[in-house]
Amino acid sequence: MAPSTNSDTSLDTSRNTVLFERARALIPGGVNSPVRAFKAVGGTPRFVQRAQGAYFWDADGKRYIDYIGSWGPMILGHGHPAVVEAVQKAVLEGFSYGAPTEREIELAEEIVKLVPSIEMLRLVSSGTEAGMSAIRLARGATGRSKIIKFEGCYHGHADALLVKAGSGLATFGNPTSAGVPPEVVQHTLVLEYNHIAQLEEAFSLHGSSTACLIIEPIAGNMNFVRASVPFMKRCRELCTQHGVLLVFDEVMTGFRVALGGAQSIYAKSIPGFKPDMTVLGKVIGGGMPLAAFGGTRAVMEQLAPLGPVYQAGTLSGNPVATACGLATLREISKPGFYEALGQRTRSLTDGLTQVATQAGVTFCADSEGGMFGFFLLDKLPQNYATVMTTDSPAFNRFFHAMLDKGVYYAPALYEAGFVSSAHTAADIETTVDAAAQFFAGR
Ligand SMILES: *Cc1c(COP(=O)(O)O)cnc(C)c1O
Repeated sequence: MAPSTNSDTSLDTSRNTVLFERARALIPGGVNSPVRAFKAVGGTPRFVQRAQGAYFWDADGKRYIDYIGSWGPMILGHGHPAVVEAVQKAVLEGFSYGAPTEREIELAEEIVKLVPSIEMLRLVSSGTEAGMSAIRLARGATGRSKIIKFEGCYHGHADALLVKAGSGLATFGNPTSAGVPPEVVQHTLVLEYNHIAQLEEAFSLHGSSTACLIIEPIAGNMNFVRASVPFMKRCRELCTQHGVLLVFDEVMTGFRVALGGAQSIYAKSIPGFKPDMTVLGKVIGGGMPLAAFGGTRAVMEQLAPLGPVYQAGTLSGNPVATACGLATLREISKPGFYEALGQRTRSLTDGLTQVATQAGVTFCADSEGGMFGFFLLDKLPQNYATVMTTDSPAFNRFFHAMLDKGVYYAPALYEAGFVSSAHTAADIETTVDAAAQFFAGR
């Protein structure tokens, strides 16, 4: 396969390199969120100068077709006119008040209309904050301490969630980050995704002391892995049976895979299906810092100032962020939006699969709405361990070859990709052609 031309920084005098050096002097690793540093794939991160539609331009003026879209929020592409107009108008009215606004109600009304399992919600500023608060609320509402999560699912970087599986179902988790005391994760049980027998065993041991089960219904932080319908059905049944709250982390999938989120997709296969709580972020802010958690009225009324579970935020429900989110939700609510987005995304995964197969490269892919994953594997993985069997040097060569050709995929094999409504058929064709050239060794 073709060698990377971008990983050797010693000869590189590009502005990206200069900026990276400057950044590294002051910001740990030169970045404000780790995956941006290209640590997994090697090379110099691209510093973005500006973005428009499906593209962004780096500090050297090179254009890329953007398949990250800020890790999910930019479902309309960059700089959508209706969103820009709403934000410009909001900015003129003030940046932040620390007092309630009508726009927060409008956004809440919009979300409740689109996601029927949510009867009440609270707005916050990041997915991490939303997930952390949802878990506190679940514990407060049930009076129980334990939580269940799944290996490979990411729910933000709250202490209790930075955890990997312990040595058995009785031992609970081990921290995955320095700085997290073992006592803080001692109530977090980590299970294998899509493993029904293990799930049943865990509930029989710990069901009565567990507050919630939190899951990415379509996991986007181990590339793209769907929870199988039988697995999800069992999650719902066991939660109901044991009084455990089922928390859907739809920070990535919410308004991304379908207008009603991943839960609307499971509801098609499992009659009456809904989670007890939902965590949202990314798309609901349209690129601004905005997230939310919501659920049944009975649970949400446990939150301060009504109930005993404390939660707060200086910038929560920020007037500029809510304007951006509302304008985004109004655009994606238009008829036919997800059909078109889903088709466009599928044309990418189908195209990539076709050229890989023609070149004899082991490859498979999946997508839902504007979210996709592809694997250098012979079949779609069902859990984190299988995702991580990917030949990572091969992935890294693919990543850099595509980057050279002006296609920006996530710089790690365990991340999902995103297509926006601004991506054209020509963008997809350019991308597939670039992949075909790489697979053919050109
Ligand atoms: C991105 C993400 C988060 C964290 O959101 P931040 O806004 O980065 O804090 C939580 N859960 C899932 C599923 C995510 O994809």
